[in-house]
Amino acid sequence: MQSPAQTHGTSEHTTRLETPLQGPKQRWWFVWDPLGIIFVIATWALVLSAAWILVRDVLKPSNNKLYSVPNGVGFHLLTFLALVSHLRTMLTDPGSVPLRNPPGPDTVCYCPFCLSAIPERVYHCMVCKRCIRKNDHHCPWVNNCVGENNQKYFLLFTLYIGLMSTHVLLLLGIPVVRSHARGEWNARSTVSPPAPIFFLFLVALMGFILALVMFCIQMCAIYKDKTTNEMMYRNKDSQGRQSMWDNMKTVCGPRVSLVWLSPFHPPERYKASAQRNMA
Ligand SMILES: [Zn+2]
Ligand SMILES: [Zn+2]
Repeated sequence: MQSPAQTHGTSEHTTRLETPLQGPKQRWWFVWDPLGIIFVIATWALVLSAAWILVRDVLKPSNNKLYSVPNGVGFHLLTFLALVSHLRTMLTDPGSVPLRNPPGPDTVCYCPFCLSAIPERVYHCMVCKRCIRKNDHHCPWVNNCVGENNQKYFLLFTLYIGLMSTHVLLLLGIPVVRSHARGEWNARSTVSPPAPIFFLFLVALMGFILALVMFCIQMCAIYKDKTTNEMMYRNKDSQGRQSMWDNMKTVCGPRVSLVWLSPFHPPERYKASAQRNMA
């Protein structure tokens, strides 16, 4: 959500090079929004109930250990990574600007809500009640803004939810396709799965669609070097400032490695800002 901001001159303020970031060890970050908390509880309930039904009704009944063990391990690994990514997106300061932040050379506006001097690409969120650097959007599913400090975790959350959902859809769909290929179906055949399996299918389908949409929007924003807010509501700066590759490094880290896929490793810039703030 955006707010109008008042233009403010910056020539007399030269004491700060940039508005400081909040470091991860400086303070606890959690948004006390009832709707967001309900969405978070729903997200965890859907993911954990899907994992439970998959094990109880799909994997355990199979006598083939070569089928059930690798699929069980793979699914639970994806579930673990998705939930860690979710927690880190929710509990990481997305890049808040301190309240009543004094102006500096990079100041372009004043936020009338925080009474803060804010640099470019900082937008106020009415839910978080703070100005957020590179504020992509406020996502109720993670009960937080997606900003420059937690965009990597959000990207990983959508990736792992998408992979989990695809895994479930394949586990449910391949046996149906195989039985059809074996000619076990006729014109009067219908698919009538038990209620838990049908629930699992619906959760996986919803997860797949939502994760695919969110992941594609994020990749489009990275490609254009814009935030979702800028793509939807702001037409200025139609030319991206960085290449897609540079922007991907900005979000995930300066070196391409498996660390990009780890929700346990914060982006380098976030670590650097934390060290700077603790010094
Ligand atoms: Zn603000
Ligand atoms: Zn927010």
